[in-house]
Amino acid sequence: MQPSGNLHIGNYLGALKNWVRIQHDYECIFCIVDLHAVTLFQEPAQLRAKIAEIAAIYLAAGIDPQACSIMVQSAVPAHTALAWMLTCVTPVGWLERMTQYKVKSAKQESVSDGLLQYPVLMAADILLYQAGIVPVGEDQAQHLELTRDIAQRFNSLFGDTFVVPGTSLPAVGARVMGLDDPTQKMSKSETAANHAVALLDPPDKIRKIIMRATTDSNPAVDFETAGPGVLNLTAIYQAFSGSSDDEIKLQFTGLRYGELKKQVADMVIAHLEPFQQRYRQIISDPSYLAGILRAGAERVAPIANSTVELVKQRMGLYT
Ligand code: AMP
Repeated sequence: MQPSGNLHIGNYLGALKNWVRIQHDYECIFCIVDLHAVTLFQEPAQLRAKIAEIAAIYLAAGIDPQACSIMVQSAVPAHTALAWMLTCVTPVGWLERMTQYKVKSAKQESVSDGLLQYPVLMAADILLYQAGIVPVGEDQAQHLELTRDIAQRFNSLFGDTFVVPGTSLPAVGARVMGLDDPTQKMSKSETAANHAVALLDPPDKIRKIIMRATTDSNPAVDFETAGPGVLNLTAIYQAFSGSSDDEIKLQFTGLRYGELKKQVADMVIAHLEPFQQRYRQIISDPSYLAGILRAGAERVAPIANSTVELVKQRMGLYT
C-alpha cells in the first residue's frame, strides 16, 4: 500500500483483510511502497508519518510480524535497481495504456516520468521476490497483467529468470465504490467529504458518512432492480460480515434504505472500533514499529539482492 492519503475500507476489504486471511498459508512479504507514493508530490514530514501509520495499520488489522515480513520499499535498494532493468525491456506503449496512468495524469498539470513508470516499479516489487501470488484489489489487476507481460518478455529475451505471478482477488469487496458516487471506485485521492470511510475515522463520522450514502429511487431493497449504491452497501456489509449471497438476500430484501444503512454502519463500526484501539496502542510505540520494519527489510533484502544478481548475470551486466 502507498503511504499517501488515508487508508479506507476499500483498501481494507480489497487487500488487507485478504492478507490477514492468507498470511499463514504462504511466505508473505507486505511492503509499504513509499517510492510509489512520491510519483505524486508528498510533503516530506507527512510522508514519514504516513509510513509509520501504514505499518501500524497492517499490525492492528492482524498481520503477524513473526510469520510475515513487513518492510518499506525504499529500505531495500534492489527495488529501484531491478525497476531500471525492467524499464529497459518495457515498451512505452504498454505503460501509456494503463488506466491508472490515464486517470492520474489527467488530473496533473505536469506529469512526472515516475507516474508513467510506476507499474514497472510495481513489477519489480513483485518479481524481486519471485512471488507466486499477489493479493490485491481489482484496480490493480491490470498492473498485475502488465507484470506478467514484463516477466514473460524478460524470460523470452534472456532465458527463464522470473516466476510469472498470479493475481488473487477477494470474492467480495474487490472493488468498493465511492459512497457519494457509486459509479466511481473509492479512492484515497478523492477528497469529497462523504466519499470514503477512512479506517481511522471516529464512529460518529463513520455513521454519518454511511447514512448519507447515495442510493436510488426505489423505496426498499430489491436485488433485481437495485442500483450501484445499494449493491455497494450490501457488498460492504457482506465483506465485513462474511455472510453468503443467500444470507445477504434474506437479510436485506424489502428493507427500507434507512434501516439498511443503519445495519451497514453498525457492522463497519463493530469491526473498526477494536481495530482502532489496537492501532492507537501500536502507533504510540515508535521504536517497536521501527524494529519491525528494520527486521522486515533485513529478512527480505538477501532474496531481493540475489534476484538482482541473477538478472545482472542474465543481461550481461557487471557483477
Ligand atoms: P493503493 O490505494 O493504491 O495504495 O492500494 C492499496 C491496495 O488497496 C491495492 O491492493 C488496491 O487494489 C486496493 N484498493 C484500493 N482501492 C480499492 C477499492 N476501492 N476497492 C477495493 N480495493 C481497493
